[in-house]
Amino acid sequence: MTTALLQPVPDEDGAPFFTYAARGELRVQTCAACAEPRFPPRPCCPSCQSFEHLWKRTNGRGRIWSYVLPHPPLLPGYAAQAPYNVVLVELAEHPRIRLVGNLVESADAPLNSVAPDRIRIGAPVKAVFHQPADGPTVLRWLLERP
Ligand SMILES: [Zn+2]
Repeated sequence: MTTALLQPVPDEDGAPFFTYAARGELRVQTCAACAEPRFPPRPCCPSCQSFEHLWKRTNGRGRIWSYVLPHPPLLPGYAAQAPYNVVLVELAEHPRIRLVGNLVESADAPLNSVAPDRIRIGAPVKAVFHQPADGPTVLRWLLERP
């Protein structure tokens, strides 16, 4: 049974993130002038105002900075998987960059595949990529030490 979950809607600035994700690469938009990484993607560097940028590959590793366990009311596709988690992950290489995702057992596992009592702030995680049949690749997270 497939339940409908919301899908990312890439905009012009964020589209490369999803292109790289589809290749299994977690990349962060980075200023080509001052090397400051930034997220979410946007045209101009907040540090030096340069419009030049590149997409720097990361090692895909981070730590859980915070998380929530969403409660009803939820959209039906999410209610069917509750209790599930939403984690905010601080990247190991770029501690000021934090990405939202779900902590899961494997790339294609349900959102509730990791029991809430296994989630700890500070726990090391690594990026994994879920490819839905009908939408952009979605970044998810795995515990480094399951
Ligand atoms: Zn800059």
